[in-house]
Amino acid sequence: MTPISETACHQQLLDVMQRYWGYDGFRPLQLEAMSAVLSGRDSVVVLPTGGGKSLCFQVPALCREGLAVVVSPLISLMKDQVDALTDNGISAAFVNSSLSFDERRRVADRVRAGEVRLLYFAPERLLQSRTIEFLKDSRVRFFAVDEAHCISQWGHNFRPEYRELQVLRREFPDTGFHAFTATATRRVREDIAAQLELNNPAVLVGSFDRPNLMYRVMRRANRLDQLRAVLDKHRGESGIVYCISRADVEDTSRALNELGYRTRPYHAGLEDEVRKAHQDAFIAEQIDTIVATVAFGMGIDKSNVRYVIHAAMPKSLEHYQQEAGRAGRDGLEADCTLIYSMADFLTWQKLLEESEADNLQASLQRIADYCTGVTCRHRILVEHFGEAWNRDSCGACDVCLGDVELVQDPLIVGQKILSSVVRQGQRFGGEYTAMVLKGSQDQRIMQNRHNELSTYGLLADHSIRSIRDWIEQLVAQRFLDKSGDYNVLQVTDEGRRTLRGEVVPKLLKPSDRTSKRRSKSVADNSWDGVDRNLFEALRVQRREQATLRNVPPYIV
Ligand code: ADP
Ligand code: ZN
Repeated sequence: MTPISETACHQQLLDVMQRYWGYDGFRPLQLEAMSAVLSGRDSVVVLPTGGGKSLCFQVPALCREGLAVVVSPLISLMKDQVDALTDNGISAAFVNSSLSFDERRRVADRVRAGEVRLLYFAPERLLQSRTIEFLKDSRVRFFAVDEAHCISQWGHNFRPEYRELQVLRREFPDTGFHAFTATATRRVREDIAAQLELNNPAVLVGSFDRPNLMYRVMRRANRLDQLRAVLDKHRGESGIVYCISRADVEDTSRALNELGYRTRPYHAGLEDEVRKAHQDAFIAEQIDTIVATVAFGMGIDKSNVRYVIHAAMPKSLEHYQQEAGRAGRDGLEADCTLIYSMADFLTWQKLLEESEADNLQASLQRIADYCTGVTCRHRILVEHFGEAWNRDSCGACDVCLGDVELVQDPLIVGQKILSSVVRQGQRFGGEYTAMVLKGSQDQRIMQNRHNELSTYGLLADHSIRSIRDWIEQLVAQRFLDKSGDYNVLQVTDEGRRTLRGEVVPKLLKPSDRTSKRRSKSVADNSWDGVDRNLFEALRVQRREQATLRNVPPYIV
């Protein structure tokens, strides 16, 4: 493109965006992504949730004649997007299994008449030969593949039907293909390009750091109290609590309700209307907290979520990043708190073992390392998504703020644990090992005469729980391995180096202390220049307006 046409394109994109959406500037990488679509160059666009991916294909679709075909995995997402476009006066439609034969025919008629600018498809529908023939007659301008990580086995949400999109690419070799996703490591990114047979694609990767998110990890002690600490800090503000199981969702929501918190449960086991009502109540701010399984959140566009709490360990860093990323989309400080227990890890491990997917096991290990680790949380997340991190401290995570305390003498503590494992013959699990080190009178220990070991009672000054934590941290840092059905501990090569004093582990000093002072100062900072009273008054106003106009508050 010559500079002149580039400027003209830029202006046209801006005009369209202003006319239909009322936005007067691009978010990072939007212009580049839109330009790739306009110029017909294949692309892979990775932007964090809320980064504005949809506009990257919606705006160019309106700049040129012809039809834009969007592949989307979820019926509900599709419907939301089409509704939103229609509200903005843009002609869009979707085709999926929820449509009747007649409805599908009406859509086809509108497409043939050249009325539709954006047509959304579920992948399985798109691959039918009749659909392909139909599209060949329909002047398809480009294909946008939303949630494109679904195509990769290395992604966290592999959908076999996405693989078949290759067929489509081969049927339309000269039409631009544009893949969009919020979560892609380099491997997934490359896989997307390879699977879709993209031709020298523009690869655009946005920044994944969310500096306004305050990450904290804590080991589960008294879950309800831990939840309340966060909820109390955010009285009257919106937040999400994620649980693994439906039963946990119900129990937690009920328990919080009984304590006077305004919460509702959300999971796939609820009746559609009930689930929808709870979601609407959350969006309309009639309740503060939604307690949910991971079924909640996709496609939900609420910018003022002030906290996301994971009441249990998620199953990968990708999931965590996506779910926690629903907090603070307005750029103001939000809390992301992960409350984990090693029991969660074992639960996931059992579930994943059945699926026999090694990459899922590896993903699980990564999130476990994140939980038990002592590295800046922002750094781990950002580096996980292939971005460099060059700062010493993020100023917004428990590690950098010193909310996690390290033990003074990690080498000695580590050596005590590792040598006990060796002396016990590497035939026992974490709980047992902790009891030996604690100097417990447990019958099994007596029977095994492990009370005669030199390591017996070596850590008697510490609680069993602390010793257990350290053992898990040694496992996470690969000084110890767990094997077999009973998670028998074994010392690794790296562990032997520790025993020789060559490598020093990092061990957390477990503490229940939550440092209110520090987190408050961070909270104050992000509200710099914001008049909180005015903000509150406006928020009340907004809620009233929204109720009157029957729209969600964030629209106002
Ligand atoms: P994603 O799909 O990347 O999660 P969306 O496309 O849903 O993000 O966009 C998130 C929100 O940001 C939406 O409300 C969208 O309308 C808004 N948005 C997108 N681009 C812009 C922009 N350039 N300026 C202002 N708001 C924008
Ligand atoms: Zn940090």
